Amino acid sequence: MSAPISSGAKESAPADANAGAALAPRLFGSKRGALPGFTGLDQPREDILRACIRCGYCLPTCPTYLETFSEASSPRGRIRLIQAVADGVLSVTDPGFVEQMYQCLDCRACEAVCPSGVRYGQLVETARTQIERARARSTRRLGVARAGWRRLARAAALDGVFGDLSRVRLAGAAVRLYQRSGARRLARASGALDLLGLRDAEAMLPDLSATPVIPRGEVYPPLPGVERRGRVALLTGCVMGSVFPETDRATIRVLCANGYEVVTPSGQQCCGALAVHSGDLDRARMLACGNIAAFEASGADLVISNAAGCGSALKDYGEFLAHDPAWAERAHAFSACVRDATEPLADLLRHDQLNTSFERTPLRVTYQEPCHLAHAQRITAQPRALLRAIPGVELVEMAESSVCCGSAGVYNLLRPDMAGALGARKARNTLATGAQAVVTANPGCALQLRAELNRADSALPVLHIMDLLDAAYRGRDPLLSAL
Ligand code: SF4
Ligand code: SF4
Repeated sequence: MSAPISSGAKESAPADANAGAALAPRLFGSKRGALPGFTGLDQPREDILRACIRCGYCLPTCPTYLETFSEASSPRGRIRLIQAVADGVLSVTDPGFVEQMYQCLDCRACEAVCPSGVRYGQLVETARTQIERARARSTRRLGVARAGWRRLARAAALDGVFGDLSRVRLAGAAVRLYQRSGARRLARASGALDLLGLRDAEAMLPDLSATPVIPRGEVYPPLPGVERRGRVALLTGCVMGSVFPETDRATIRVLCANGYEVVTPSGQQCCGALAVHSGDLDRARMLACGNIAAFEASGADLVISNAAGCGSALKDYGEFLAHDPAWAERAHAFSACVRDATEPLADLLRHDQLNTSFERTPLRVTYQEPCHLAHAQRITAQPRALLRAIPGVELVEMAESSVCCGSAGVYNLLRPDMAGALGARKARNTLATGAQAVVTANPGCALQLRAELNRADSALPVLHIMDLLDAAYRGRDPLLSAL
């Protein structure tokens, strides 16, 4: 069993969940290797820029390059653009630069194949942060009217909704009311959704009929008769806990069935992934501090995430806070304890210790790899091994399983054209397998797959891997929990 999350740091842990908010002003990024075209903190690192040898190995893995065949829309092209800003020959707010930094999905497929070890995620995330800070300065100068409503709406969503888990739940309750009250029928029939440009976003939302998961420090004991493996703390997640609460409950049951005591720490917040994607590293750090404090207090050995994007962000806390003397050590210890839900289970499987009391589940499935599982966390074999461990499940690989489906946080809402092209490509590859269901491990991918399969006139079920494992343990039809 690994050392507890709080190792060496518990005494100084703030007791309340707002620790992050209180301490955020003390957080700083690095000025190391400051580049002339960028300013202040959180700059693309010169050593990472220099590591690119322009070999082009990354090009065939890049979804936007595959769709456009344009060098500017490739990782190598974007690195050159960042270098141009660094050299002072391009402005950080140049429309072409901004377009490319945000056309990128931050899927990190390029990073996973780069022979030179270029950490592309660091480059694009700090470049976006530089853009947002420059824009904030110009908004202060020019006024709100000229700042652009999309940018302001995005900032309001990040600050007003995802900044606080209770507000996410409130938004979920409002959507639930909208779906049940008849307002949805009215909005669809009246054309109001078209007028507001919200038809695609609205169509993507599944029915929010299940009770959300509200983490209040509940403790779920291991299944009786199963060898005890330790205590783990689940990040219930803002989207997962509100939109897919049954997947959280399935994850808890699967972990308990394998000897883990599962706790859902109170005080946990959004993981910060959406803030990172949107160039708001300060907000991501604030959320990180709140989560570190909340999970330290849980006394768990591991932090578990069942959402690939969230797990990836949690594993990056050590890096986000590396330059803050008050948090660096705690953040590093925290990140070292983070696991995707498939990791400890696949470890047990490898050591012949997985609870294999599955009911036979005859189902041909294909697997769509979430980018932040396959590329950012390099977890590819574990989900496949678990799927193959269920008797009756046949795994059929799809072409381009690790090419982004176009979800990428809120990318599919902000850039529907590119997201739609990638989604249609994913739907085609999925359907070509002849599978009876598609399995994934991230809520954003599940929503995007459902929307794109609908567009392709297919009702192929979409399943989270934890739902499938849980159904197999309980002898239930897995398709009952499908989207
Ligand atoms: S694979 Fe790596 S080194 Fe080669 S062009 Fe892409 S980012 Fe640069
Ligand atoms: S992160 Fe993804 S979309 Fe962006 S450059 Fe790399 S491969 Fe292309």
